[in-house]
Amino acid sequence: MAKRDYYEVLSVTRTSTEVEITKAYRKLAMQHHPDRNAGDAEAEVRFKEVTEAYEILRDPQKRGVYDRHGHAGLAGMNGGGSGAGGLHDLFDDLLGSFFGGGGGRRNRGGPRPGRDIQAVLDIDLVEAATGVKKTQTVPREELCRDCGGGGARPGTKPAACRRCGGQGVVVLNQGFLSVQQTCRACDGKGQVITDPCGPCRGRGRVEARRTLEVEIPAGVDTGNRIRYAGEGDAGDPGAPRGDLEFVIRVREHKFFHRDGHNLLCAWPVSFARAALGGPVEITTLTGQKVVHDLPRGTQTDEVIRLAGHGMPNPRGGRKGDLLVQVVVQTPTQLTAEQEQLFRRLAELENTPVPGPKKGLFGKLKDMIAGEDPAGERGA
Ligand SMILES: [Zn+2]
Ligand SMILES: [Zn+2]
Repeated sequence: MAKRDYYEVLSVTRTSTEVEITKAYRKLAMQHHPDRNAGDAEAEVRFKEVTEAYEILRDPQKRGVYDRHGHAGLAGMNGGGSGAGGLHDLFDDLLGSFFGGGGGRRNRGGPRPGRDIQAVLDIDLVEAATGVKKTQTVPREELCRDCGGGGARPGTKPAACRRCGGQGVVVLNQGFLSVQQTCRACDGKGQVITDPCGPCRGRGRVEARRTLEVEIPAGVDTGNRIRYAGEGDAGDPGAPRGDLEFVIRVREHKFFHRDGHNLLCAWPVSFARAALGGPVEITTLTGQKVVHDLPRGTQTDEVIRLAGHGMPNPRGGRKGDLLVQVVVQTPTQLTAEQEQLFRRLAELENTPVPGPKKGLFGKLKDMIAGEDPAGERGA
């Protein structure tokens, strides 16, 4: 049977980029990988075919020769065999993330460091302004005490892996190319557990809870991270733990709004104070009373800047400002004296105003005097 076109094998085109080719290869290699298709000879052939095609097309020089002369052009070139050393690592890089199962980058077969953990930590805006200590409990993996993390039932030992003969690596031969790969049967350890430990079911890890006191510095904002090195999941015996990272989330405040280091709020000012000016007392986010001298004739929506009364900078340095938006309050419940004064004010302004509104008592008096129209007395 004639050799298939490499582009066709990877389902890409002659104009496909290196990234597209790699993507196509990863997908096909995963699909046809011998570990996923044990005993399936056809999958093995396909796997070798896609790997060979990728080995050529990922290399601009070989791809160029292939484009110009086809398979015949490549026949004269040094195909590689074990010479294609670079591909081993590449292959592991490409597939490690699919078959390795977490753990990230590591030495082949070496002890794996623990995974990093991330947890969200909610605080309110006042806590963000002052800084706070929070006791947090997070789930994380610990080494199993019964088996010491080995996963074998105490008193038993793991057996040598049969697939790799205890080497932790297997060599896949694909015609002119051989690829060394971490053994997936034993995950590169060279040993398999035949009699698993009870409490951890052979995993070597158990779920546990870790409680920490987290120190949150003043000025933090949503999205800031606080990292504790070595407080993540346990690694393999002898390998370091992962890290634990808290991601800060600051709740909205009902009155103060944050804008970077500045705080914004609205503040009610009486009608008379806005007109005459004078001291107003403003309470800041942290409860501090600040007296500000309001200028005469302050309008609603004017903004007062209280320098240094915003959020602190977690890296030190200048604090933000508090921007106070004035809201002039139109009085609604007037005392008799206030009403008199407003009427006098209206007269001075030459503003015509209707007569005094009758209150509830006025209406009752009218009813008793029989002046009220009959209709309003109804049911
Ligand atoms: Zn155990
Ligand atoms: Zn093995």
